[in-house]
Amino acid sequence: MNLLRIFFWILYLSPTPLLAQICGFSTVKNADIERYTEGYVSHFLQSNVQQRTIARIPVVVHVVWNSGFENISDAQIQSQIEALNRDFRKRNTVNPVFSRFAVDCEIEFCLAQRDTNGNPTTGIVRRQTNYANIGSEYFDTSSRKRIYYTSKGGSTAWNPQKYLNIWVCSINVLYGFASSPAKALERPEEDGVVVDYRVFGTTGSLREGRQNGRLTVHEIGHYFNLLHIWGSDSTCVDDDEVTDTPVQASPHEGCPVDLVKSCNNSLDYFRNYMDYTNDDCMSFFTAGQKARMWATLTGFRANLISSNVCDPVSVQTVNKPIFEVFPNPAQTELTVIFKNQIASESKTIQLLDCFGRIVLEKRNYTVQGIPSRDGVFNLSLNDCPNGFYWLSIQVNNQNIVKKVVIQK
Ligand SMILES: [Zn+2]
Repeated sequence: MNLLRIFFWILYLSPTPLLAQICGFSTVKNADIERYTEGYVSHFLQSNVQQRTIARIPVVVHVVWNSGFENISDAQIQSQIEALNRDFRKRNTVNPVFSRFAVDCEIEFCLAQRDTNGNPTTGIVRRQTNYANIGSEYFDTSSRKRIYYTSKGGSTAWNPQKYLNIWVCSINVLYGFASSPAKALERPEEDGVVVDYRVFGTTGSLREGRQNGRLTVHEIGHYFNLLHIWGSDSTCVDDDEVTDTPVQASPHEGCPVDLVKSCNNSLDYFRNYMDYTNDDCMSFFTAGQKARMWATLTGFRANLISSNVCDPVSVQTVNKPIFEVFPNPAQTELTVIFKNQIASESKTIQLLDCFGRIVLEKRNYTVQGIPSRDGVFNLSLNDCPNGFYWLSIQVNNQNIVKKVVIQK
């Protein structure tokens, strides 16, 4: 029996009903990542967050098409980016029964404006392939899929440390699948999200019930280390590792008319993005899910946040600030000196803790009311406990992030 047949037998024997198999995500965990996540989440949920910078995720979309109608328009791609920003910023309407559980995840997405060589790009790669349903095609016995490799008829990922790679193509049976951080550790060249072209975006020729771009929201939830809301099987033991989502037996489809319960809970969260309900039904992430995603954003996927590939190339070449930060590690004071600053430039320097909270901020440093001409910023660290921090330096709409350590 070849591996493909074994795979389908495992699917067939899975306690999760086959009928609902729209997402090919399989739970893979890494002990180190889970340990970090657990510690981060408990602090995140206890802390009284006042202010946090929005995480901005650069996206590259690979459209890999066989028939012309699979080569979706730029407008369809843009509509998906807008749908992501709507849902991850909670700009959508949430059903009143569930609205009290819904949070703004403070994550936004943008199409990359710089490619891996620093040249201008639209953030969209288009390739024609000889393979129909390339999203389902394997090319070796270790279950590697063609979609991830240009040499095999797909499209090779851009550096997954800097970009969220999304492949849009034809997939047989499934609507999409994604790599968790644990899976990405094993196979970084396949890190990202794969979505069927008929469920991607909010415009174009889309499947009934999949016209709001939510399948991609769901898959990106997996990419940030969220599990299915019912766990990985139909027992009431296995769960999604999130404390504020009730234990739930199995997925829901369509959109239940009545409130439904299972596993002795008070309510199944069938409108959550990590269930299997229709696009116009699913509508929220919880605070616990947000914490788990931010654990990924500050841990395994931290490089995504400091990536500057969404800024246009023209910005990079004009007055790129050159500066020194010292000492690092620091004890009582941190100094930032700009080497090529212009006195009229607007500058903001923020020190963020590992939860993304702003703990110190300085704008256009002044000496006795006179704007500093030598570009020296001194930050007093007396109130900052030991740990890792991010120094965010914004000069004329450019943003540069640097990791610093406080060790007293
Ligand atoms: Zn899924």
